[in-house]
Amino acid sequence: MNKELACEIVKDLLPLYVDEMVSDVSKKSIENHLEHCKDCTQMYQNMALDLEKDEQPKEAGEVKRFLKKTKQMYFLYGLGGLSFTAILVCTIVDLAINKGLTWSLIAGTAIIFANAFMYAFLICKKNKGYITMSVISVGTFILLSTIQISRYYFMDVGTVWIFRYGFPIMLLWLGITWVPVLCRCALKWNIWDCIAVFMIMVLIGNYVTKLMTGDYALNDLWSMHNFIGNGLGEVIGAVLFGIIGRVKKWRK
Ligand SMILES: [Zn+2]
Repeated sequence: MNKELACEIVKDLLPLYVDEMVSDVSKKSIENHLEHCKDCTQMYQNMALDLEKDEQPKEAGEVKRFLKKTKQMYFLYGLGGLSFTAILVCTIVDLAINKGLTWSLIAGTAIIFANAFMYAFLICKKNKGYITMSVISVGTFILLSTIQISRYYFMDVGTVWIFRYGFPIMLLWLGITWVPVLCRCALKWNIWDCIAVFMIMVLIGNYVTKLMTGDYALNDLWSMHNFIGNGLGEVIGAVLFGIIGRVKKWRK
């Protein structure tokens, strides 16, 4: 089975040979032919080179991804360790000085809140926006409650402001933050338009907050009282990001 192969046949078989998809007999024949045919050898070398070029970026990408993941893991473990230590120290100091848990509760909740947010943001691949925002929403609720309970009931300072101002204002601002996330995740808007929408929501939020706290009456709202302080920055921002969004779309 060591018959000479015609160049045409070898050239037809080379792609399969490069991919190692030929039988042992064919392989042997092709190799015999390549030994003394410069033309076919040249073609084979080109093909092998192309194949190498194709495979290299894929492997490099995988290594990079692996490194990134490892770094991320170390970062998260480090953060977790540091946070645990911080909470422990706060609790011990608090117990020693106040003979009870007071401000360390607030500090601990804040640290856990920040960690949960970071963790959700880094780890999530699918529905990143929704999950991160959900963590923020629930976390803010818990943090606010902890501050109220620790201060009023354990430390005997402050007033019960949480039901009057705390929760309503928190819900308002969480709603405002959810809008751009929904625009981005559900409606697939570009990031610049989402920021522009957020700016407009902040403008509305500023006025509604002042209404809720009793600083403004409805009349102030309609007459856009102190617009420079409450909304000029946001309007400029919204226009600016809106323009960036249009330019980006137009350049595509
Ligand atoms: Zn040949």
